[in-house]
Amino acid sequence: MKKTLLAMALLCISAFAVAQTKVIAHRGFWKTEGSAQNSIRGLVKADSINASGSEFDVWMAADGQLVINHDPSFNGHKIEETPSIKLSTLKLKNGEHLPTLREYLSKGQELKTQLILELKFHETHERETEAVEKIVKMVDDMGLNDRVEYISFSLHAIKEFVRLAPKGTPIYYLRGELSPKELKEVGCTGPDYHFNAFRKNPGWVKECHDLGMKVNTWTVNKKEDMEYLLDLNVDFITTDEPTLLQEILANRK
Ligand code: MG
Repeated sequence: MKKTLLAMALLCISAFAVAQTKVIAHRGFWKTEGSAQNSIRGLVKADSINASGSEFDVWMAADGQLVINHDPSFNGHKIEETPSIKLSTLKLKNGEHLPTLREYLSKGQELKTQLILELKFHETHERETEAVEKIVKMVDDMGLNDRVEYISFSLHAIKEFVRLAPKGTPIYYLRGELSPKELKEVGCTGPDYHFNAFRKNPGWVKECHDLGMKVNTWTVNKKEDMEYLLDLNVDFITTDEPTLLQEILANRK
């Protein structure tokens, strides 16, 4: 009887314990030797410091292949208008070639960090739908459904991920203008907003939690902003300084 009561008490405590905020490395852990933004090395480095997740940006090239890059162009080549075979010859700052999504996810299969996939705004909704269809299929084919989460500034892309990704897949909207209730209606897991959105609307974090949603925020690089968001109890912080955030979290324990 005593044991049962103790087990019940522990269950209650764990149910009410506040989960610790998780660290997402923005464009991989790139501020370290041999790394670069959106490189496969950056993904490996994020995994090596036990970041909960590693974020990266995806575009669809002219030939319909999916590639990793942040800006619409790389070294003067517009991604949407350049075939992937050409893009794959372009070198990142650490000497790697610009990776395809398949190459990136293949490395991800060997690692444990969550893969936070941002689909960029494309020229047309049709191209975004095509990209979402290809991404969801590739992730499924590679057995990564439990490892990949989706984010986008494009509300169209978000709605397509909600429509096509397996039920329960985490999907977060980046742009910042929708309230928690509006996001819930879209079918999102929650907001992944610039941290100023939560400085302006600090009540949104609790509102999201009350609606059963989670909260991510970007790109939080200063200690004071990290502390503010940790106090708000956000679920994830996306940062270019993952080791600084890890230190702050360790000191708050
Ligand atoms: Mg991004």
